Amino acid sequence: MDCIFCKIAKKEIPKDFTYEDDEIMVFSDINPIASTHLLVVPKEHITDFLELKNDKLFGKLANTIQKMVKKTELKDKGYRLVLNGGGAQIIDHLHFHVVGPVGKKVKM
Ligand code: 5GP
Ligand code: ZN
Repeated sequence: MDCIFCKIAKKEIPKDFTYEDDEIMVFSDINPIASTHLLVVPKEHITDFLELKNDKLFGKLANTIQKMVKKTELKDKGYRLVLNGGGAQIIDHLHFHVVGPVGKKVKM
């Protein structure tokens, strides 16, 4: 399968990880829209958010997002979580964007 995030997960494409464990990897978006723009990605190929059926993995992803918000000191600076799906996504491998700092005025 020709999936760039699977290639990153298998280390076929080198990438500096902000965080990594057996199931999850976090790295900076190649085209950031704010000074912090991380992608929180399960290593397993899950095509769309609606295909995420594993509650334990969902919990782990949420926990990792919380850790990343704290680690990047966005906790008090404004952060935004974005998930594109159903055709709005460019990459068909589930990922959450963690973006910041953002203010109240800039809406999606
Ligand atoms: P989507 O629209 O699928 O939610 O977002 C895909 C994101 O992946 C985009 O923000 C894009 O900049 C990022 N991206 C695409 N290819 C690569 C890559 O090879 N490395 C990294 N770090 N980010 C990528
Ligand atoms: Zn994939």
